[in-house]
Amino acid sequence: MILSAIEDKRRVWNCIYRRKQAMERTDYDLVIIGGGPAGLTAGLYAARARINTVMLEKVVPGGQVITTDWIENYPGFPEGVTGGDLVAKLTEHAKRFELNVENGNVVSLDFSSDVKKIELSDGTITTKTVIIATGASPRKLGVPGEERFIGKGVSFCGTCDAPFFKDRVVAAVGGGDTAVQESLYLTKFAKKVYLIHRRDELRATKILQERALANDKIELVWDSEVTDIEGGLMNVEKVALKNVKTNETSKLDVDGCFIWVGIEPNTEFVKEAVKVDASGFIVTDVNMETSVPGVFAAGDVRNTPLRQIVTAAGDGAIAAFSAEHYIDTIG
Ligand code: NAP
Repeated sequence: MILSAIEDKRRVWNCIYRRKQAMERTDYDLVIIGGGPAGLTAGLYAARARINTVMLEKVVPGGQVITTDWIENYPGFPEGVTGGDLVAKLTEHAKRFELNVENGNVVSLDFSSDVKKIELSDGTITTKTVIIATGASPRKLGVPGEERFIGKGVSFCGTCDAPFFKDRVVAAVGGGDTAVQESLYLTKFAKKVYLIHRRDELRATKILQERALANDKIELVWDSEVTDIEGGLMNVEKVALKNVKTNETSKLDVDGCFIWVGIEPNTEFVKEAVKVDASGFIVTDVNMETSVPGVFAAGDVRNTPLRQIVTAAGDGAIAAFSAEHYIDTIG
């Protein structure tokens, strides 16, 4: 009886010892996946906390913000700031505290043990904690012509492509902040912008709505869905529409079609590693912790009621703080 109790205790201690040894051998204490505002802010906090961290970014830091023409609701910039300039400042800030940034394409995650494994396209790294901050990408319409004309008149990025439409006529699809804000930007180049929305009321913030409605170059096309994007070999010529209330069909002559109908989370590599909601966004608690202890999510990739640069940055700070606490707890 006494011998078996001693044996049990020994097994428990062995187990704790092996776990501690394995944890001590991880490549990093924290891996941040993604370098948008959430990832860069998490990186800034982790670097200042002197956590052994790497921030992985596919190409260059920035995320969706880098394609945003003008930001006027990020606190501290009363005159507004371009997406590119803000990203440059966020990156410079994190690097000032020596955040370790590396290129890495994450293929899959293995959270089956305390030592978390991240499979990259060129190897595997291990870590005690992970912050997933991979953001989101533009949703596609899924209509004929959309794929075919990408780069030939169909675009998801005003900052990148608006200058190609100087004095042209373009369609913009969507009714949210992105569609309205980017349509306003398009009017700096295009002579006319048809803003096509599937309802009779925009979803965008009121101040953006007011500006769009007051802009002579923007014509709102209400209650309408794009059913087809048509054109020649190398260019868009028309968008086909259906009025959802009357079922009437029509066509608009346009030189380009910008699509801003929402976003989808960048979670292909997550698969079933953590819990996601019905739309694929990662579910977290108030500490940004996912369904897996020691794994956190921050920014647009997580299930959140408000997706702004400032909320992404706030998420990143909380996630880094929570990761630090987790690392301290596991010793
Ligand atoms: P969003 O807010 O989800 O709006 C998507 C818009 O596209 C909605 O108007 C929606 O129509 C429409 N839509 C969705 N699927 C469609 C389809 N299949 N066909 C036609 N229309 C479709 O997306 P978002 O504008 O990309 O914004 C994403 C997030 O970023 C939001 O949280 C937004 O507030 C934030 N954001 C903020 C700013 C800013 O603060 N300045 C700028 C850009 C983005 P319904 O309205 O009928 O659903």
